[in-house]
Amino acid sequence: MITASNVIKDSRLQDILGKALAGEAATKTDCQYLLNFREASPEAGLIRAVADAASRRRFHNEALLLGQIGVATAPCPGNCRFCVFGKGHTTFPESRLSREEIIAKALAFAGAGDLYALFLMTMHEFGFAELLDTVALVRREIPSHTQIVVNIGDFDLPQARELKAAGVRGVYHVCRLREGVDTDLKPEARQATFGVIHQSGLDFYYCCEPIGPEHSAEELVEQLFLGVEHGCFQHAAMRRVYVPGSPLAERGQITELRLAQVVAVVTLAALGCAETQNIAVHEPNLIGLTSGANVVYAETGANPRDTESDTSGHRGLDLATCRKMLYEAGFTALRRGDGTTTPLTLESARSSG
Ligand code: SF4
Repeated sequence: MITASNVIKDSRLQDILGKALAGEAATKTDCQYLLNFREASPEAGLIRAVADAASRRRFHNEALLLGQIGVATAPCPGNCRFCVFGKGHTTFPESRLSREEIIAKALAFAGAGDLYALFLMTMHEFGFAELLDTVALVRREIPSHTQIVVNIGDFDLPQARELKAAGVRGVYHVCRLREGVDTDLKPEARQATFGVIHQSGLDFYYCCEPIGPEHSAEELVEQLFLGVEHGCFQHAAMRRVYVPGSPLAERGQITELRLAQVVAVVTLAALGCAETQNIAVHEPNLIGLTSGANVVYAETGANPRDTESDTSGHRGLDLATCRKMLYEAGFTALRRGDGTTTPLTLESARSSG
């Protein structure tokens, strides 16, 4: 039977969490140990509490609000079995937001003055010239304290430099769990882009995703450490969302509580990554935000986890709901893309929705 004294007597757990509170990162074997506790166990509760404390201290109890616009959809050659756009199973028609729609959505996200970064998301294949044009368009419209980040397919160094010159500050890029098995993409190609991001000086946004019930602690650790080893600016965790009819639907979905345990382990592993400046949880939820995460994304337009063509008001949360969630999680300030902060108060959380 588990009692309070039994938990305290777990000397290995005590040692790992004690090191974390002293600012020392969890190793790969530590992380495997932490992930093997049941999500509803007292040990998992302790892991989440320590990750939360370590994260708030590291990031000064500041949070980041991000907004993502899915600008285009098409049957995607990535063919990820968990994504509604995979070419082998998608029912979505090809579509693209107009320039006016993109501007309207960008201004709706950035207009309140507290958005750290605006994300522009495409499919794995995308028109590069068109993307540069969209970046330049959005850059002209939104305030200078909001950065632009792209979530696109693989690209090379000259393209990375062009993106940077157009106004892009960071890139979300992941070698997914079981990449090449549950997707048609090559892990080597995904990881080659990490080097391109690094060489070009763009911020590297990484994530442990898309987590399902079938992934072992070993698999999660190997995948999440790629972000740590490649100096990610943002680390994160995201569960695979149950999309009825998708090829992986029968494998089910982990709970937000288990996701929060992974968030906590990511947070403790990322203590060893000097470049990491924040931790995200996808999709936004309060358990993750009290387990080490200090970032959530609002979403509009296309969303790989949604069966609606515009995720706003469906799976994608709006900015006001995300801001309120960060407030409820106890964060006291929002960091903006220029490094300044704005207070996160009951009044600011309420007035926005
Ligand atoms: S997750 Fe991305 S790369 Fe994979 S099918 Fe969906 S849009 Fe394509």
